[in-house]
Amino acid sequence: MKKFDKKVLMIPMVVITTVIVVVMLVRSTKAFEVFLDDKPVGVVDSQSEFSDLVETIRKKAESRYGTEMLVASKIDFKEVYLPDNSRVIDTASENSIFQVGKNIQLEAKVFAINVDGEDIAYLRDRVSAEEVLERIKAPYEENAENGVVTSFVEDVSIAERIVPNHRLSELREPDAVYDSIVEENETIKKYVVQKGDTVSEIAERLGISIKDIRKANPDLNIDRISIGQELNLAVPRYVINVRQTKTMVYEDAAPYSVEYEETDELYRGDTKVKIKGEEGTKQVRATFISINGILDETRILEEIILTPPKTQVELRGTKQRPRTMAYGVFYWPNRGRITSRFGPRWGEKHSGIDIASPTGTPIKAADGGVVSFAGWNGNYGRLVIINHENGYTTYYGHCNTIKVKKGQRVARGDVIGTVGETGRTTGPHLHFEVRKNGVPVNPLSYLK
Ligand SMILES: [Zn+2]
Repeated sequence: MKKFDKKVLMIPMVVITTVIVVVMLVRSTKAFEVFLDDKPVGVVDSQSEFSDLVETIRKKAESRYGTEMLVASKIDFKEVYLPDNSRVIDTASENSIFQVGKNIQLEAKVFAINVDGEDIAYLRDRVSAEEVLERIKAPYEENAENGVVTSFVEDVSIAERIVPNHRLSELREPDAVYDSIVEENETIKKYVVQKGDTVSEIAERLGISIKDIRKANPDLNIDRISIGQELNLAVPRYVINVRQTKTMVYEDAAPYSVEYEETDELYRGDTKVKIKGEEGTKQVRATFISINGILDETRILEEIILTPPKTQVELRGTKQRPRTMAYGVFYWPNRGRITSRFGPRWGEKHSGIDIASPTGTPIKAADGGVVSFAGWNGNYGRLVIINHENGYTTYYGHCNTIKVKKGQRVARGDVIGTVGETGRTTGPHLHFEVRKNGVPVNPLSYLK
């Protein structure tokens, strides 16, 4: 028996194998397996077909969110051969759009309003963001004079941002962004009283009401402000604040200085003008800075004296002052909460102020003078009246005890009685009155 040659056997096997492979290749389809972020999602006939599907999904998202969308997912294709078409994605079907759409990551191109390095809002497009910022400035720009430069206090910019679609809920409409920016956030600002200032003038200049200044300074008698005193101003502040600056050249009064000369012709504590000072004139170049329409700062850049002011000379007394002589300034007779102010009260006029203190608290003479009354007086209960011999008298009502007698001379600070609740009163307090030529005036305007 002839043995088969091994080589002879190999040849048909190779041929058969090759034929099978070729037949399989010819019968199968060349296709592409798609990977979204390395995760297989299916097979497509062509890459461009899948790209079209992605584009459809992207466009759908754009019309849904109303903003430009980008594809964030990594898309890879792998060439594959399939025996038939059964597993190929039908890229035109709604179901495919839904299935692929679920797996694909999209990003939105949005525009942030950035304030001092922090994004405060996302908007769909740059124009909307710009419009919001313009709208914030507009009311101030409308009323601005020539030469006024309007800007923001904060470093405000519009920046392009890419955010994943799951954060698109943060996208906001221009109106809502505007409303959140102009929502008031009150902060306290200090103002230092300058020479010649009055509260009404400060209020007018800074565009706030006297009522608001009073409200912001409950412990202060704002009718008697003094130079250097600090006032609280409740000034609104926002997420974004508008600054306006204007540099101007104008003429202003140049204040005079005061020199003092001592004299023994006057009592200690008294002064008298010997030579009246006169204001001069100066040319000032200054930059006015207002924030949200309220003057915030005046920066003097240059001052040129046009007419020099004339120095005032004042005499200062050195003569020993009688202890009980009035200075013309009233000190607080006792310390405590003011429970009732001067003026209308329950249909009547309150002729003084009520200062609450516990019964027995010493009452001190507000200024030097002579006791003109000490005793019981109807609604006042126990009452002390001091005549200061300068046109002023002071009344101390509802005393528990009286420590002085009519005709007695008292110095400022001398104890004249104690706080009580005699007469018409609802609790221990001092009723304190200041009368000028017999007419009650507001004590808060005279107390120091
Ligand atoms: Zn009273």
